[in-house]
Amino acid sequence: MIVTDNHMHLYNHLRLKALEQFKNAGGTHVFLVSLLSKHYNVKPKKGEDFKKIFEAHVSLVNKANRIVKAYAVIGVHPAEITILSGRMRPREAAEIMKEGIEIAGKFVEEGKAVAIGEVGRPHYKVSKEIWDLSNEVLMHAFEVAKDVGCAVQLHTEPYTPEGLREIAEMARKAGLKLERVVKHFSPPKIKEFEEVGIFPSVICLNDYALEAAKQGDRFLLETDYLDDKNRPGSVLGPKTVPRKVKELLKHGFDEDFIYKICVENVERVYGIEITL
Ligand SMILES: [Zn+2]
Repeated sequence: MIVTDNHMHLYNHLRLKALEQFKNAGGTHVFLVSLLSKHYNVKPKKGEDFKKIFEAHVSLVNKANRIVKAYAVIGVHPAEITILSGRMRPREAAEIMKEGIEIAGKFVEEGKAVAIGEVGRPHYKVSKEIWDLSNEVLMHAFEVAKDVGCAVQLHTEPYTPEGLREIAEMARKAGLKLERVVKHFSPPKIKEFEEVGIFPSVICLNDYALEAAKQGDRFLLETDYLDDKNRPGSVLGPKTVPRKVKELLKHGFDEDFIYKICVENVERVYGIEITL
C-alpha cells in the first residue's frame, strides 16, 4: 500500500533516520520541503545565494530516495522576509526572495524538484509593508509556477475563509490552476477548500485525518515534521501519517480510499506518477 506524507523537513535531529522510521511504520512516499536560509547557515545577499540552499536540499532528497520515494519541494519561506529585513530594507528583501523563487522554478524545469514551496505569507503578525510585500512575492511565485507548469505548496496565516479566497483569487490572476495550489498545514475543512478550489494538505493533529475523511476524499495528509533537535517530534513525528492511515482503515475507510488520498490526489496536484 502506498502511504504519502505531503510535507516533511529534514534538518539537524534524525535526518535520514526519520525516513527509516517513516518507512518502518508503513510510509512509502514523501515530499521533503526546504527550510529557511538560517537552517543552512546561509545569509542571502542576492537571489543567487538561494541556489546553495536548493542544491543542498536536492542532494539530501537524492539520499532520501535510497530509503523511500522522496520528492524535493523548494522555495523561499515567507518568514524569510523577516530574517532578511534585519539586514536590508524590506523592499530589497522581497526582490531577493522573488529571484530565489525564479531559481527554484529553474530547478523544477530541470527535474530536480517537483514543486515550489513553501511560499506564502507569514503566520505571525507583521506590518502592512511586510504583508503587502509578502503578497507581491507570493504573486510572483504563482507566476513562476504557471510558467514552469508546477504546483505550489503554501505556508500562510491560520485558515480563514476570506484569506483562502483572497489567495485563490491571486492564483487565478496568475493563470495557475487552483488544484495545483496546496495549502500546507490545513485544517480538516474539506468542503470549504473544495468550494474555493485550493487543495488542502491536512495536518495530522488530533482527529484531523478522520474528520477530513468523513467529509470527502479531496485532500492530502502531512506531518510538517521539523527534524529540529531543540523541538524533537515537532510538529508531528515521522511515523504519524502511516499511523493515521491505519486508523482510517480501522474506521472502515478502505484501501481504495487511501489510494485516492495517497496516490490519485498526489498525481493530480503535482502532475507526477506515483508507483511503488
Ligand atoms: Zn513546513
